Amino acid sequence: MKILVQKFGGTSVATPDKRAMVAQKVIQAKKTGFSIVVVVSAMGRIGDPYATDTLLEMVNKMCAEADLRELDIIMSCGEIISGVLLSSTLKNMGYPSCFLSGTEAGIITNSDHGNASIIKIEPQKIIKKLQENSIVVVAGFQGCSEEGEITTLGRGGSDTTAAALGVALNAEAVEIYTDVDGIKTADPRLVQDTKTLEKVTYSEICQLAYEGAKVVHPRAVEIAMQKNIPIRIKCTFNDNPGTLISANGDSIERSSIRVTDRLITGIAHSTNITQIKIHVPDGDKFLPKRVFNALALAGISVDFINILPELLLFTVKTDVAKKSVKILENLNIQVEITEGCAKVATVGAGMTGIPGVVAKIVDALSEQNIKIYQSADSYTSIWCLIDEGDLEKAVNALHKKFV
Ligand code: ADP
Ligand code: MG
Repeated sequence: MKILVQKFGGTSVATPDKRAMVAQKVIQAKKTGFSIVVVVSAMGRIGDPYATDTLLEMVNKMCAEADLRELDIIMSCGEIISGVLLSSTLKNMGYPSCFLSGTEAGIITNSDHGNASIIKIEPQKIIKKLQENSIVVVAGFQGCSEEGEITTLGRGGSDTTAAALGVALNAEAVEIYTDVDGIKTADPRLVQDTKTLEKVTYSEICQLAYEGAKVVHPRAVEIAMQKNIPIRIKCTFNDNPGTLISANGDSIERSSIRVTDRLITGIAHSTNITQIKIHVPDGDKFLPKRVFNALALAGISVDFINILPELLLFTVKTDVAKKSVKILENLNIQVEITEGCAKVATVGAGMTGIPGVVAKIVDALSEQNIKIYQSADSYTSIWCLIDEGDLEKAVNALHKKFV
């Protein structure tokens, strides 16, 4: 059995017309001889009646400290609704189809409600249905803990479901269909003249995705990479070839790949960042320890960390900024905060050791009068923290300089 996993995101399943286009893609693949497993997200975006964020908001409006286990139950409904509708659409078009919730599909996770990790997949039911010639539609983003409770996988969870099923079923490939035809050199919502990356390696895309290019979730890329399952990013609404993500590797399809030696893969960005600045009083060598231990204890992750003898600088996500400040003030630590920051990342494994990259970044941003609050780098990325109001200008300036 040659299995293909196809995942369709929220915008692809939002309306009956769009679901008909999804069904066409599924049927097209089925006709080429594949057994098809389809993973679906919830319909639409916040505001749409059955979108995940809409369901979440309904509960949060009723109760500030809602129960995480119950939140998972309501959040899992979005994918169940879109999955049953897609399965019905396929049946209506004359193709045997079967819908399975995450639990029914054998997706076993840990008990970390709201952000669970897949531990294993027991795919017997999926395989049985495929053998009966059904197209199997699986609810993305959800699983079942070993205690039998419904869990959800956090942001980008349906991508993770698709990749994990691809691995468990030893699929030929995982296709991720969305509203853009591939991975671009920057978010096409901010930059007009982006280029589509035709072939990329897992690690290149992991970097870009970690830095905020939300077209595919980095966790999904990492899972597919473990078993060398190729991922294709394609658009539900056209027939363009999209982007192929794979290793430079070993199977027939994979051996044909030549990844060009590019300096930069692309420019990524993320928002909702708050910068925290703490002046270290004379000689207090233990302040960094107190600050970072207290935040770690509260489960708050920090980024952009600069520790200097007289100053501590770091960022937190804006949704935990107030909590962070409270924790620090309770320890009698005075903080200064800058809200509304954004991070722009210039990403590319090819820039390791190449002189002049930082100079070009600084040039691009200063030519646009953009103030850099902080910067940091790894061997594949250089990040700048800026004001969120400058984001579009910054991404465009960097894209123009490097792509
Ligand atoms: P889905 O609901 O299908 O999962 P997402 O909204 O998660 O879709 O991802 C698709 C979006 O990712 C695109 O609409 C695009 O705005 C955004 N995006 C950000 N960076 C990139 C990039 N480098 N290439 C393509 N899309 C990107
Ligand atoms: Mg997505």
